[in-house]
Amino acid sequence: MNNVPKPTIAVLGSINMDLVIRCEHLPKPGETVSAQSMTEVPGGKGANQAVAAARCGGAVRMIGCVGDDGFGQKLLANLIAESIDCDAVLKAESCESGLAIVNVENSGENAIIVIPGANARITPEDVRRFEPAINDCDVLMVQLETPQPTVLAGIQTAKRSGAKVILDPAPAATLENELLDVDLICPNESEATAIVGGSLETIDDAVTIAKQLHARGPAAVAITLGPRGTMLYDGARAELIESIEVDAVDTTAAGDAFAGALAVRWAETGSLRDAIAWANHAGALAASKRGAQPSLPHRTQIQAVCG
Ligand code: ADP
Repeated sequence: MNNVPKPTIAVLGSINMDLVIRCEHLPKPGETVSAQSMTEVPGGKGANQAVAAARCGGAVRMIGCVGDDGFGQKLLANLIAESIDCDAVLKAESCESGLAIVNVENSGENAIIVIPGANARITPEDVRRFEPAINDCDVLMVQLETPQPTVLAGIQTAKRSGAKVILDPAPAATLENELLDVDLICPNESEATAIVGGSLETIDDAVTIAKQLHARGPAAVAITLGPRGTMLYDGARAELIESIEVDAVDTTAAGDAFAGALAVRWAETGSLRDAIAWANHAGALAASKRGAQPSLPHRTQIQAVCG
């Protein structure tokens, strides 16, 4: 990487603080339980993907919004510590930062409440204001934890400037075709079927769903299939690109590690196939480690397993 300019990746998306509360059992309606511990962990799909891309060697700029509370300051400090440019991260007045209350009981079962907070405040006008941050980037990454009109404004801005757009349609949602007019969509199994319907069990199903999704607008489709790898369909050919075998302990953020690595490698090589093979390694490494952002691999770790 020395002397080679880093690819520029813009991420338009959510920034959350995850409050992970551990308890013996989840409270039933009306019940009060005592927690064993509470940990603050920076998260949000947008921020996770920004951190993933930065650790993979991208020059990353974040476009998003935090609240004017203590969490907002911590979330910004966390992104800056990962060398992410936060000039386009707004601070919403009289607004709480995005929060996820993650209750986990000893059996591993969880119950999560997400408070979008400041993530719901970022508007298409804000995206227009930050157009220069998108205009000269190689890749724009978007997800669905910020309002859909804002995501659409980002996609349209990137298309005008010639940047590649990757949409990770998470959390699962039904989508208008205009949001699917992207260079690459990278859903997991349930996100893919939320968009086009049907069920996805077998590799043949993945081919069928990928083709149906492609017909709705994206230039290419990469459906992530957990340990099975990724189904790539580019309009001409469907190919299963296998992942590596790992001892999976926690798949949280595997999709975010995959998306961040994919953006960087695609910008570097121009080859989607090569980028997906690389991103599979990143996803597998994230699945082999606990936590969300703590599990996102660095470039040297991916290179070590890629050989
Ligand atoms: P999400 O976290 O969005 O549900 P996936 O679980 O499909 O996404 O993971 C994204 C990618 O990470 C997969 O396509 C695969 O390449 C890799 N991956 C995830 N889990 C494993 C695993 N257990 N073993 C190997 N690779 C994995």
